[in-house]
Amino acid sequence: MRHAVYARYFATLLFLVSALIPPAAFAADTALPRVAVLATGGTIAGQADARAANAYNAGAVGAQQLVQAVPGIEKLAQLSTEQVASIGSQDMNDKVWFALARRIQQIFDRNEADAVVITHGTDTLEETAFFLDNVLHTDKPVVLVGSMRPSTATSADGPSNLYEAVEVAASPSARGRGVMVVLNDTIQSARATTKTNTTSVQTFVSPNSGPIGYVDPASVRFLAPAFQPDSHKYTLPSGEALPRVAIVYSHANMDGVEIDSAIASKAKGIVLAGVGDGNTSKTALDALERAAKQGIVVVRASRVGSGFVNRNVEVNDDQNGFVVSLDLNAQKARILTQLLIANGITAPAQVQKAFAATW
Ligand code: GLU
Repeated sequence: MRHAVYARYFATLLFLVSALIPPAAFAADTALPRVAVLATGGTIAGQADARAANAYNAGAVGAQQLVQAVPGIEKLAQLSTEQVASIGSQDMNDKVWFALARRIQQIFDRNEADAVVITHGTDTLEETAFFLDNVLHTDKPVVLVGSMRPSTATSADGPSNLYEAVEVAASPSARGRGVMVVLNDTIQSARATTKTNTTSVQTFVSPNSGPIGYVDPASVRFLAPAFQPDSHKYTLPSGEALPRVAIVYSHANMDGVEIDSAIASKAKGIVLAGVGDGNTSKTALDALERAAKQGIVVVRASRVGSGFVNRNVEVNDDQNGFVVSLDLNAQKARILTQLLIANGITAPAQVQKAFAATW
């Protein structure tokens, strides 16, 4: 009985003493990894709009507000926030990409943070992830996160996705894995993942390889040890724009009009979102051959959504001076082609080598 009273006094004393010490003095806080959250907009920062019951404005909520809305996130990391842009990702552009790449590189070079999380609209999230994966020089974790429902929706997925993105970024096992994408409990690689569903919360999949890991509020699990392919990192050109590369979508009854118009618009490269194994009609292939003969980089990708595009099977790439995208979908093949051209790599054999870097 006496012991119980002493224990109670002791507990009260401890509580009073701890209340007098400012929180920053607790070793546990500063021992947490430092994660910089860079916000760009998107549905994850969306707010209800009066237009219709389910309408919303993408990018209306600021970075600080986004983080504060996630209970318990402060126990995962020491968080800092920066607003890089406030746009729906359908408006994502070279200017924001360059600003993001330069700021993230600076954060790591100056040792301002141990990891970076980028909040982003889902529409072009895979493209920003792939772009950054090709230009950042770091083995520290960079995680892109978005949501399919705005913060004001019933069962908004933004807070749990952001919690899990920070959890992955703060995890020691996330180092050396390149740029990652976290949504709906899955961790995907920038190269392999793509948005596959217009509305479902399970929209990002990696059709050729599956996710690289899983995350839940209690754990981060990678399916294999970190493996960094010997992929080259490209230098950003001066200025704020990448060279013009057009995507031409193939279909039945295809003519060469879009290809000729890409040539006329002075595109430095053309990516074919081809049928099947990156194929298109005889007329369109002739137009692509005309483009390649003028020194335009021609890359055959596929509109199918999974699988690899193979060289010299249905189309004679050697003879035509074409490149195949292998596993890269058309939107990612476009980015790699832009970076290669910006780095002076335009000869088909060299471009093909760069596309094959992972394989
Ligand atoms: N189109 C918007 C965007 O990509 C909304 C889609 C989303 O974020 O899920 O930012």
